[in-house]
Amino acid sequence: MNQLRHNVIRAGLEALYFSGAHRLLQPLFAGVGTIFMLHHVRPPRGDAFQPNRHLEITPDFLRATLRHVRARGMDIVDLDEMHRRLRERDFRRRFACFTFDDGYRDNRDFALPVMREFAAPFTVYVTSDFACGNGRLWWVALERLIARAERIETTIGGEVVRLDCQDAAAKSIAFATLHDLLRAVPGPEITHLLAELCRRHGVDDGAIARELCLSWQELQNFAADPLVTIGAHTLTHCNLATCTPETARHEMAASRGAIEAKLNKPAAHLAYPYGDKNAATAREFALARKLGFKTAVTTRPGMLFTESANHLTALPRLSLNGNYQSTRLLPVLTSGAATAVWNGFRRVDAA
Ligand SMILES: [Zn+2]
Repeated sequence: MNQLRHNVIRAGLEALYFSGAHRLLQPLFAGVGTIFMLHHVRPPRGDAFQPNRHLEITPDFLRATLRHVRARGMDIVDLDEMHRRLRERDFRRRFACFTFDDGYRDNRDFALPVMREFAAPFTVYVTSDFACGNGRLWWVALERLIARAERIETTIGGEVVRLDCQDAAAKSIAFATLHDLLRAVPGPEITHLLAELCRRHGVDDGAIARELCLSWQELQNFAADPLVTIGAHTLTHCNLATCTPETARHEMAASRGAIEAKLNKPAAHLAYPYGDKNAATAREFALARKLGFKTAVTTRPGMLFTESANHLTALPRLSLNGNYQSTRLLPVLTSGAATAVWNGFRRVDAA
């Protein structure tokens, strides 16, 4: 089912490319700038089962993207400069920002060298618990345990869920089903459910954050690089919209405080975990503003327009999705055509 969805999206992007429609839409929908959203940057993995593949691109595709952005004459700027341009309505030149969520070690090992080739600044949004080594990247744990399991049985929200995991197709369905069910339950319950499943299927979920994410100590060196900005991504990587107002405030404010205390750098920018309409709502946008974040980004797809200056804590991004790593599609993405179609040709969606 997921594969079908990918194929439909890819076909849509290809149709925009071959029809040339993206060129017609560009003047209206390319906007004043773009915030690219990335997660992992690393060489391709050999694993047969990779349901999280959309969260990783290769260093080569990052390089191709940077080359494309530069060839289009766009400035690559950091988030403080983006904030200035939006506030001062300085739109003489189109700009791009590069942002990486979660704080993965491959951002240092594979992304940083490529960003240096272009002298391109970028931001990494750090989740405090991942940097401490005790957070839970449950979507990675889920991938690993389904890869090993023949069948899975669990109880979510009082319902018994039994899933076959014997072959690749069954594993894909099992992942999609559990991923959707888990996204709907509160954070502590996800952790509890996954811990139990991991224990049963021999996956060490407690080790995943240390394996994949930069520790605070590593972040100290990384953050000292003049190209790097560190942003906040909450304490526990929770769905903020499902938290009480007090918890949501604490998750945002204390994650900024932790970065400032551990790295001795201001953390003026925020990314909402999951960041879609179910995880980042008007309440969170207002809270981020009230807490004094200069900008906050969602995962809603979109380009930046002059109006975005009125919604600095509800900014959309353009995902560099590992399932569509084709240089041919880059002009479609940066034309704004793909996100315009996605958004029904509305320019700003910040409600
Ligand atoms: Zn995240």
